[in-house]
Amino acid sequence: MRTKFVFITGGVVSSLGKGITAAGLGRLLKSRGYSVSICKLDPYLNVDPGTMNPYQHGEVYVTDDGGETDLDVGHYERFINEQLSKNNNATSGQIYSAVIERERQGGYNGGTVQVIPHVTNEIKSRVLKVAQNIDPDVLLVEVGGTVGDIESLPFLEAIRQMKGAVGAENCAFIHVTLIPYISAAGELKSKPTQHSVKEMLSIGIQPDIIVCRSERHVTKDIRDKIALFCNIEPDCVIENLNADSLYEVPLMLEENGLANVVIRKLGLENRTPDLTAWKAIVERERNPIHKAKIAIVGKYVELHDAYLSIVESLKHAGIANQTEVDIKWVDAQEVTTETVSDLLSDVDGILVPGGFGERGLDGKILAVKYARENNVPFLGICLGMQMAVVEFARNVLKLERAHSSEVDQLTPNPVINLMEDQVNNLHNIGGTLRLGGYSCKLKEGSKVRELYGTDVIRERHRHRYEFNNDYREMFENAGMHIVGENVERNLAEIVELEGHPWFIGVQFHPEFKSRPDNAHPVFKGFVEAAFRRAEK
Ligand code: GLN
Repeated sequence: MRTKFVFITGGVVSSLGKGITAAGLGRLLKSRGYSVSICKLDPYLNVDPGTMNPYQHGEVYVTDDGGETDLDVGHYERFINEQLSKNNNATSGQIYSAVIERERQGGYNGGTVQVIPHVTNEIKSRVLKVAQNIDPDVLLVEVGGTVGDIESLPFLEAIRQMKGAVGAENCAFIHVTLIPYISAAGELKSKPTQHSVKEMLSIGIQPDIIVCRSERHVTKDIRDKIALFCNIEPDCVIENLNADSLYEVPLMLEENGLANVVIRKLGLENRTPDLTAWKAIVERERNPIHKAKIAIVGKYVELHDAYLSIVESLKHAGIANQTEVDIKWVDAQEVTTETVSDLLSDVDGILVPGGFGERGLDGKILAVKYARENNVPFLGICLGMQMAVVEFARNVLKLERAHSSEVDQLTPNPVINLMEDQVNNLHNIGGTLRLGGYSCKLKEGSKVRELYGTDVIRERHRHRYEFNNDYREMFENAGMHIVGENVERNLAEIVELEGHPWFIGVQFHPEFKSRPDNAHPVFKGFVEAAFRRAEK
């Protein structure tokens, strides 16, 4: 195998942005002409994050092949601009399920099934399979969690063994740690990092490179101290400061020499990186000409990570429109007939994102109504589109108690209904939604047809309910048009409102396909409509 491997672990605390470090390094290697893929190993026991509350885990990122994956996979796709697969994210849940299934089938020939070697072999074989299938020059492997977590151990043991499996000269180990600043002492502290590396050594892994996350400049003195205590070459201790924007991180890491030392460790030829396009993104992001304030009306607004890809997509659309997008987080539960105009009268666009369950739905419906009646640009995504349909059914078509059967099974007007093939899935909720990329045909003359500039698109999905075609004619006649459709299954994918400046609801999740240098057409159109309204 020609692929080289970079393993990225985290120390001291979680939430250090290991994912961004991995994604940023991926971009730097790609900018040198190397092909790159990235995968994430998650130590939790869920099979995938699909069943987790967004407050636990942030957004669930959906891959084209229908994987419900960690949100870091979204960072990877956005930074290296490669389409990744569900195989790029493996969890303990998947690993143990596979091992136990094999055991039940007698696949271990009477042996005692153990964490080492059976679980670790399963982990290694998954990593190697990604390398074989994609055949990149470099495969970056991020291990979730923090060194010292009990559940991380099999993963760390597996990556330790990888050195033996593919050759030490083909592996590099990066440890991302925190260098805290103690204000009382006025000092940055390296001790937690020393302890974390000690922990790594006890497992048998000597990091080659340490990436120091810090709020303050990590001086040469401290970097030298870390190098000395942790057996690391001084230029392999890399500073990684907080950045104003995620997209500045690769440029910062380049300046601090991360890619150069990785390339040296892997024995690859060093090449001059071409970061022109990436610098242009950052430049545009820093210098907007227009402004738009956009409300996200959701139920997980306290945790912005729950809507990560939407936030990034708005950023991309801002970059494309040279617009500073100011997000106003609106808790759907706080939107009532009394508060709605106070909460939404100062915004130039209203976005209602996806979600599950009943909480906050009334507020979402009121937000839709406000957008529809006041000509505010509106984008509804998945559940947001479904609530746009419900609002129209109730307030324009006057359909009594119209609702989605997800929350009102007895409604006389289930304008959003369970998909036929989903009826048996309600008991087994993991991985059974309509997931991943499906095609959608756009209607001639529609706004989306114009935005996309093509008539067949492919978008990613994650839903169980759909627009009920029994009501289609009524909606069409009253001015809510189905302008995007999955032809194979006759599923409504996009609605547009006639006579409104910009009102679009999409059953799919456009946010998973937006890229910093290639904003998604729907988001781009939405932000454009919003800044134009602001300037009027
Ligand atoms: N709960 C809705 C459904 O299952 C919408 C899902 C979503 O917004 N991702 O269809």
